[in-house]
This record gives sequence, structure tokens and C-alpha cells, in this order.
Amino acid sequence: MSQLKVNLIKCLSDNYSYIIFNPNSKKAIIVDPAEAKPLVDVVNKLNLNLEYILITHHHEDHVGGNIELKNKFNCKIIGYADDANRIPGIDITIKDKEIFNFEDDEIQLNFSPGHTSGHIFYYFKKSKLAFVGDVVFSLGCGRIFEGNSNDMYKSVMKIKSLPNEVKIFCGHEYTESNLKFCLAYDENNDHLKQRATEVKDLRNKGLPTIPTTVLDEKNTNIFFRCNDKAISQKLGLEGQPPEKVFKKLRELKDNF
Ligand code: ZN
Ligand code: FE
Repeated sequence: MSQLKVNLIKCLSDNYSYIIFNPNSKKAIIVDPAEAKPLVDVVNKLNLNLEYILITHHHEDHVGGNIELKNKFNCKIIGYADDANRIPGIDITIKDKEIFNFEDDEIQLNFSPGHTSGHIFYYFKKSKLAFVGDVVFSLGCGRIFEGNSNDMYKSVMKIKSLPNEVKIFCGHEYTESNLKFCLAYDENNDHLKQRATEVKDLRNKGLPTIPTTVLDEKNTNIFFRCNDKAISQKLGLEGQPPEKVFKKLRELKDNF
């Protein structure tokens, strides 16, 4: 069993950055430092030895803390080789499917374009954790800024194909607004109704809705459910391939 713990840190207005650490060795990783200050505070408070920063994509709200953290803790910044020129302070470049070791875990980088052309997610194989940046959110998926709907569809399917029990850690707290969209086009889904109650309850208490799991997203996230008959019917796309349903849903969500 892996020993790794994950701390979720709220940053900026609705970003989440993550600190993953071994409580025994104190060795730590940060994923997507939106800003330095709240992360510096946690690293110091827990007395962690920050070794690496992992970056999912180059957007400012995911790399904003890079340089300050690197200067302060002398850690190494890791990102996708083909997008290295857009990631501030990058030290180590990794290719698609490449694995690197941290403590007793194996972390696999997975190319997942669509939100940006160089977006990746990180899969901790033993701990069964996925840090997905802005590809998938709970009950939603990222906006398509670079690339097309098919790229994004394939990227979302890569996350969907991970084992059911994998915990998904995404870059933003967008769950409540995503929920409204899912309910509008998937209103007879009992899993979704159940999740709606949970989400509202958590948000009323000011708590994060993250992490979610692959299984929960399969049951409730409309972008994972493009094969569902009721949904394609609702969109007037019955019998059409899931890629088409996905494209339509993304367009509808952009204007929702
Ligand atoms: Zn982004
Ligand atoms: Fe973002």
C-alpha cells in the first residue's frame, strides 16, 4: 500500500492546487501551483521537503506559483516535453506515457489535448490518483481552447478508461454550475439526483466537492455518458456516434 497523502489547497477564486506527500519521509510534490503563498504556508506548516512541481498545462492559473516556489524550496518543475517552452521554470521534460518514480509510486504522464494543445494528466498508478488539470471536472469537462472537439473527447475517454476506484483531482471547483447543466439534459438519472444532494450539501458547508472518482463520473458526468440513449435522444442525435453527442454537449455548455 502506498503511503501518499493528498492535501487540497484552495487558490485564487476557484482553483485547486494539490500537495502530495509521504508523511513519514516528508517528501512532497505540488500539482499546478496557481499561486505561491497558500502553498508555501502548507509546505512550511507540515515541514515538508518539496521535491517536484508537476504541471498539467501552461495557463497562468496553473503555473502562477512556479518561480516563487522553485526559488524558495529549490524543487524541480516537471512538464510535458512538447509544451516545455510555455511552462515557466521547467527543469525536467517528460513524454507521453513515460513513467517516473516518487517514493514507492509510479507516476505516468498522459497526453490529453483539447483544453490546450499540450495538456497532460498525471496518473499515480499505485495510489490510484489522477491529477487531471482542466480536462475533466466533476460533472463537466474543460473548455476547448486549442484543438477540436474530437481531441477533447479522446482525452476525456482516457480518464474514463482508468479503473473505477481512481480518485480524480481537477483544477477547479466548478461542480455546482456543471450540475445545473447535467440536470438540464439528464434529468431522469437517479445517480445524478443523488449527487445533486451531496454537492449542494458540501457547498452549503463551504466544503470542496473534490476528489471525485472515475465510477462517480461514469454515473453522473454527462460528458462521460455520450453513449447513453436518453441523452442522445434528448439532443435529437439518436443513433449518432458518441463523438457527435460530445461535440453538441460541449457547444451547449459553452452557451449555457
Ligand atoms: Zn486552463
Ligand atoms: Fe484552469
